[in-house]
Amino acid sequence: MARFQPRPDVALREGYHSPQVDVEVRLNTNESPLAPPPAFLRDLADAVADVAWNRYPDRGATELRRRIAALHGVDPAQVFVANGSNEVLQTLSLTYAGPGRAVALFEPTYAMHGQIARITGSDVAEGARAADLSLDLAEVRRVVEESSPAITYVCSPNNPTGMVETRETVLDVLAMVPGLLVVDEAYGQFAPWSALELVDEDTPLVVTRTFSKTWSMAAARLGYLVAPSWVVAELEKVVLPYHLDALKQRAGCLALDHVSEMEQRVSTLVEERGRVQAALAELPLEVWPSSANFVLFRPLQHDADAVWEALVADSVLVRNCASWPGLHNCLRVTIGTPHEDDRFLAALRKALA
Ligand SMILES: *Cc1c(COP(=O)(O)O)cnc(C)c1O
Repeated sequence: MARFQPRPDVALREGYHSPQVDVEVRLNTNESPLAPPPAFLRDLADAVADVAWNRYPDRGATELRRRIAALHGVDPAQVFVANGSNEVLQTLSLTYAGPGRAVALFEPTYAMHGQIARITGSDVAEGARAADLSLDLAEVRRVVEESSPAITYVCSPNNPTGMVETRETVLDVLAMVPGLLVVDEAYGQFAPWSALELVDEDTPLVVTRTFSKTWSMAAARLGYLVAPSWVVAELEKVVLPYHLDALKQRAGCLALDHVSEMEQRVSTLVEERGRVQAALAELPLEVWPSSANFVLFRPLQHDADAVWEALVADSVLVRNCASWPGLHNCLRVTIGTPHEDDRFLAALRKALA
């Protein structure tokens, strides 16, 4: 039987792919290695009983937006929340990009920026980063002038390189773009500065954040953006009604009761990152600087696919980026607990021996 086919541009695409292999040490998706604080889990269990399950949730997620706004010193009308920052990005694309409009991005970067742009029918204007994987402003200007993008993505710290863009770079890009500049700060807590400080009502700047990485809540699927209120108002028209369930709204609020504990965890991970980077520097690898909770590296004398396989054989999973644009023979490791990182380093030393 001939099967009815989806839109041709969808049928052509492969889905987003990150292998979920059953291993003991999972350092492949940049999650927090720790469960959320026990007090959070107790409060969340109580919250389950409190939810009015027969009623639709607060459509405006009023309390959660108020709490996030207070955290960043902005107005709740400047905050939009959704099911993971991926849904935040998808809603941006549905609202501001789509057929006849372009989305600009600079590879190598987070694969979902291009994937979401294409699935929403946008043209993708792909620029390349410089040889050292930093953002090249001349290339940004070329791509922006050629494609006049509705959305321009800058990921800072950039996944998968770990490199952060400076305030000056973000301001320079902002001055070039004709549409919105979206700074994806999924790893913003690890960085020395945040573009959040540049958001105001007169600037076409959007900053996205997530509870998935630092907040130990990848399973909950919760993300948000901070932007001018006129952007948020448009997104609210496009997103499905009641898209954010009541328990998740409570979970986000309860998580924000533990800000100082999360900040403590970030500094512990940053210290651990230093230890892992120092160990990697002793091996035959090219290692990139990182302002995130992961490190990109390239075996200089070995085939990355073979190294990845050897690590899996030792029950350690890292991300194989070897086939990504601009990342020939590269692997990316998430910073885990000291024990997990020791397992990784031992397996890597063995693979490179
Ligand atoms: C992990 C990641 C996200 C996705 O976060 P979710 O909130 O889990 O959807 C977005 N952007 C970047 C750069 C990421 O690495």
